[in-house]
Amino acid sequence: MNVLLINSPSRKGGGSMLPQGLLYAGSAVEREGHKAAIYDPYLDPSDIEKFDAGDFSKISELIGSFKPSIIGYGGVSTSYGRTKKLSQFVKANYPGILQIAGGPLASITRLLLENAGIDAVFHGEVETSLPYFLDKVAAGGDWKSTPGISHRSDGIITRNKNPEQIKDLDSIPFPAYHLVDVKRYLEPVSTLYASYKMLFEINPLYNDIKARIGNRTHYFPVVTARGCTHRCSFCYRHMDGIRQHSVGYLIRLIKFLMETYGIEGFSFADELFNSRQEWVYEFCDALEREKIDIFYIVAGARLDKMDEKILRRMKDTGCIEISYGQESGSDTILKEYRKGISSSKNRDITVLTTKKVGILSVVQIVIGSPSETKDTIRETVRFLKDVGGYQYSLNYLMPLPGAPIWNYVEENKLIDDLEKYLDLVCEHGGRPFINLTKTPDRMWKRWAFMIRKETRLDYYRKNRPALYLPYMFLYNIADAVLPLLPFSVRKKLAKLVKIW
Ligand code: SF4
Repeated sequence: MNVLLINSPSRKGGGSMLPQGLLYAGSAVEREGHKAAIYDPYLDPSDIEKFDAGDFSKISELIGSFKPSIIGYGGVSTSYGRTKKLSQFVKANYPGILQIAGGPLASITRLLLENAGIDAVFHGEVETSLPYFLDKVAAGGDWKSTPGISHRSDGIITRNKNPEQIKDLDSIPFPAYHLVDVKRYLEPVSTLYASYKMLFEINPLYNDIKARIGNRTHYFPVVTARGCTHRCSFCYRHMDGIRQHSVGYLIRLIKFLMETYGIEGFSFADELFNSRQEWVYEFCDALEREKIDIFYIVAGARLDKMDEKILRRMKDTGCIEISYGQESGSDTILKEYRKGISSSKNRDITVLTTKKVGILSVVQIVIGSPSETKDTIRETVRFLKDVGGYQYSLNYLMPLPGAPIWNYVEENKLIDDLEKYLDLVCEHGGRPFINLTKTPDRMWKRWAFMIRKETRLDYYRKNRPALYLPYMFLYNIADAVLPLLPFSVRKKLAKLVKIW
């Protein structure tokens, strides 16, 4: 059988990220003796524009040439709108093709089975349920008995019991990289420099990072673990606990990618890279012992497992960046997020990375938890100033189905039309859409501006005093005028004056 796997688009453009889940699915399909192909519309943004305009000729072309018996969609909950359009088109025009979905898309199972053209939703790991499903479909048997799927018959949705999670992640073969053009998923180092521009200006240690990267221009994502030790209120997680590959497996994978594709920079794209300090030390030792000269980025780490010693060890073996997810400077909000960490620990480790050890770290802030107030926002501003985190990512809390905070949304009946909401989030990301707090909307919407204004002015005051007064003037004007303008105009202005 032929299985076509589609990276179902959520956002409109903004580059393509390696569809890791589909690579694992492709690997599972091939292991069962079937043929897999991956289609990633992100690689050609005009494809997404065509889908939005109702032109599905690309899908027809793919179906005509590859002749799939099954189409599988991977994506996140905000991929729903386009998954629905694509799968409805396929159902209407190619009714013989079975359509399945998995990964985080499974958080909106009911919508997929009732309103889109999806026949089955996979909840667990594809490696455990897909082989059974493929066997049944190939033999013309009853695929609805597949463990870990949901399906719909006579208007009733049935969810089958999940199979046991894979115990030993090393038993999974490498992702099927040959199904994609790996070069198109290499991420440019230049975007890293751009996102840290201000921090490079004020931290002399950061210049050493450029020296360590040398003339290497790109890096590539790799998964070392599945799951996480925590369950934060805004985080959708569809696996229990955490499992990590052995260091031996990871070293083999790194060597394979270096030898096959000439890759010398990696991004460890896990939810949580450092669940065990011993594992991290073992990995650093192995890089040294095997004389593997790479630079690496840790895309998901917890601050409570970090200290100066381990950070220095990581830096010495090629680590240039770590993303933690600090989320807030307020203990009240961190508790509500269930982060399991205090703001003072957050502060200590962030200061180490942003100022002392010389590992890049963009502070990540999420605002708008139900208990957020002007005072907790002030604590976050204080935190950002203390750690010198002048370049940070700032988003409003965006509750999505499957995350613990979603219960709060349902209990308080905050969303009437889920499909419309998912489409809005899909198009506009972390903007203020849904006020979970008790603060009036007008004030709540101003919080992001307040944070940016306060931190930017602090940066100018401390580092570029000549610009402090002009920027203060600009910000005060903006503060008075911007709220009166539509968002599209504000966005354009923000780009011009770099203050939004
Ligand atoms: S936000 Fe990070 S630490 Fe929290 S549950 Fe998700 S992956 Fe784990």
